[in-house]
Amino acid sequence: MLEQDDFMALSKMNFDSSEEQRLVLEQVDRACREIRPIEEKCYLERRRNEMVKPIFGKAHMLGLPISRKYGDGQGADMVTYTMAMERIGREGTGVRTFFSVHIALGQLTIQSWGNEEQKQSILPGATKGDRLLAFGLTEPNSGSDPASLTTSFEEKDGKFVISGQKTWISNGSIADSVIIFAYPKGVREGMCAFIVDKKSEGFSTKFIENKLGLPTADTSTLYLDKVEVPKENLLGPRGKGLPVAYSGLMNGRLSVAAGCVGVMQDCLDEAVRYSRVRVQHGKKIGKHQLVQRHIGIISTNLEAARWLVLRAAFTKQKFAENPADVELRDAADLAIAKAKYYAANASFDAANRAVQVFGANGYSFEARPAQHLADTRVTSIYEGANEILEQKIALGALGREFEAYS
Ligand SMILES: Cc1cc2nc3c(=O)[nH]c(=O)nc-3n(C[C@H](O)[C@H](O)[C@H](O)COP(=O)(O)OP(=O)(O)OC[C@H]3O[C@@H](n4cnc5c(N)ncnc54)[C@H](O)[C@@H]3O)c2cc1C
Repeated sequence: MLEQDDFMALSKMNFDSSEEQRLVLEQVDRACREIRPIEEKCYLERRRNEMVKPIFGKAHMLGLPISRKYGDGQGADMVTYTMAMERIGREGTGVRTFFSVHIALGQLTIQSWGNEEQKQSILPGATKGDRLLAFGLTEPNSGSDPASLTTSFEEKDGKFVISGQKTWISNGSIADSVIIFAYPKGVREGMCAFIVDKKSEGFSTKFIENKLGLPTADTSTLYLDKVEVPKENLLGPRGKGLPVAYSGLMNGRLSVAAGCVGVMQDCLDEAVRYSRVRVQHGKKIGKHQLVQRHIGIISTNLEAARWLVLRAAFTKQKFAENPADVELRDAADLAIAKAKYYAANASFDAANRAVQVFGANGYSFEARPAQHLADTRVTSIYEGANEILEQKIALGALGREFEAYS
């Protein structure tokens, strides 16, 4: 039983960074320093940051966990990839969301489920940033329950013809290819996944305005009106759309959790920096014990979240090395759910506390904590809303026979 072995498995985790990890983290740190002033400017102007792709492409970050066989893939393990996502998360949830979608939901899904021809056709360009990816699962009437989606496909003249609408799709307007999930027309079973070229006739997009946060990231609605997709673009076995979606979400969730740890680190750094200089009641506010309380709580939750995320990444890496091991898959799924659930909530709390430490000066988007407060709110909604993860985590303890939907 894996649960019983957990303690022993933990003791086998190596907490020292390898030379390879250090090199990757140095590269990602340089790119993050370069993106920060640009991201801050774009944030205040509320426009998409177009420099993410070129700056991180130059740092070889766009295909970090993808096999070296494909283009600029760096073959990084999941722990290294997760540490890079944490560092990127410090720059903001908008920047990190781009990576979660382009790499975790997009490239890793194609690397896991695609045939060699599909991988050769998509991954080299994706790892270099020449082909951006998005993941189209959510629809206006189908979110937490993806099995209820209504986008459908028919087979005509040796092609798939897809019609439907996807919404709240990250990278939706900037992507070149989108993984689209659809049922055969008139049926509510046998969901399939397709790699759809966005230039296809009948495919259009609309940018979603007025979001609460993530002003520098693209989130869009996609419209598919009889879009023709070649037969060879079916991703994974016919009828296995849901397992394809769930495996993508597992990777996506891990990167969201890591990004939240980065958000918490930035909130801590900002709160510490500010409370060392701001003076009230004749002393630096860092000397007031109730301000120290905020900093102590952020710091403790940060450490807890970071270990949960590293442990989840370690388990995911073991599953990546043994993809047929169903117990390992379930262990990784559960560890990732816990890490994402905890880190998402803790990052919002950290941003809220950092705003409090800043006082009125935190109540402006010119302060980084205010940006994090607005942006990290989404992390307990997307890639598994809190309520869905709470149920998944509870079932890990209760057993599947307690499944609420059966
Ligand atoms: C900025 C942003 C980016 C996104 N990017 C993508 C993307 O790239 N690709 C993509 O496919 N989707 C994306 N999404 C969509 C996201 O995955 C969904 O919002 C999420 O799955 C929740 O679905 P919903 O919003 O329709 O909420 P609903 O499913 O309508 O849920 C509403 C509320 O009810 C709760 N609820 C639902 N069912 C249950 C239940 N059984 N028990 C208890 N509570 C329940 C939910 O937890 C939630 O609190 C994005 C969303 C946002 C906001």
